[in-house]
Amino acid sequence: MRRSRELKEMLENSLDAGATSIAVLAKGGGLKLLQIQDTGHGIMRDDFGRVCERFATSKLREYEDLQQIETFGFRGEALASISHVAHVTITSMTDGSPCAYRACFAEGHLVSAKPGEAAEPKPCAGTRGTTIVVEDMFYNAPTRRSAMKSVAEEYGKLLQVVQAYAIDNAGVAISCSKGTECGAELRTLREHSTTDVIRQVFGASLARELLPVEGAEPSVGLTVRGLVSNASHSAKKLAFLLFINKRLVESSSLRRAVEEAYAACLPKGGHPFVYLSLRLPPTALDVNVHPTKREVFFLEQETVVAAVQTMLRELLAGANG
Ligand code: ADP
Ligand code: MG
Repeated sequence: MRRSRELKEMLENSLDAGATSIAVLAKGGGLKLLQIQDTGHGIMRDDFGRVCERFATSKLREYEDLQQIETFGFRGEALASISHVAHVTITSMTDGSPCAYRACFAEGHLVSAKPGEAAEPKPCAGTRGTTIVVEDMFYNAPTRRSAMKSVAEEYGKLLQVVQAYAIDNAGVAISCSKGTECGAELRTLREHSTTDVIRQVFGASLARELLPVEGAEPSVGLTVRGLVSNASHSAKKLAFLLFINKRLVESSSLRRAVEEAYAACLPKGGHPFVYLSLRLPPTALDVNVHPTKREVFFLEQETVVAAVQTMLRELLAGANG
């Protein structure tokens, strides 16, 4: 399990909670400290005991809901698995509560903050929202710890995840910092558009020539929105940001189709920038694939891939016509 995946799940939890602002702090490449602070609806005192238990999701009332689920997470596993490999502290305040509550977790359970104290949420000062602090990741799994790359590389991977979610969630203020005096490496404001965020992450020259994608394939309930580079932009590496139902995923078949759509109009060895946000009925996604795995499969794979490729081909032909 990589920290970028844990971070992704925590970002999705904050977005599920309706946060308008999310601040990520990652020290020591996220191993020493990973903190996510949001302004979402918070966790009620009485629910604290459950949030780190396996399958303790508040997003799934009935089994049939699996087919309908619209929030991002639906397994109730992210916090549980993190609490088995790190020290987790959650501070949260809901609307209407006179104060915030703070509690520590280990091995899927509430634990006391100090020896002799009761293992229960303690009242404290705070503001609406949730702050989750994950410390000493893999303290109990030294082989996993030593398999980590350099701090800079690990932080780079975390930053990329936050940048991707910032692009797909323009309108939410999102920042990412490693806690040095240089300030945050990413800081978006609520009034920033998707293009503004892409400019901040990938630079002004790319942002100037982006083409908006907007299309649908009603036969499979697919809608597509996004921003892609024109043929004139050519990077060394394909930047392919793919979101399906607001989850950051990978699809090698879609990736190939996108490369093919650009093949005719890019210089040899050049790559485009592609950001696509797909919406599909949950029933159109292959449910046999573990939802925390990033590679997704569509039930109507060929139709979905062909529809996206056609949209891109027509857009590029029109722009370079
Ligand atoms: P899931 O997201 O699949 O329900 P998680 O383990 O990610 O499972 O989270 C467990 C539960 O903890 C969530 O269902 C939610 O009720 C609560 N929770 C976690 N993070 C937050 C947050 N940032 N704000 C509000 N509630 C949260
Ligand atoms: Mg979740």
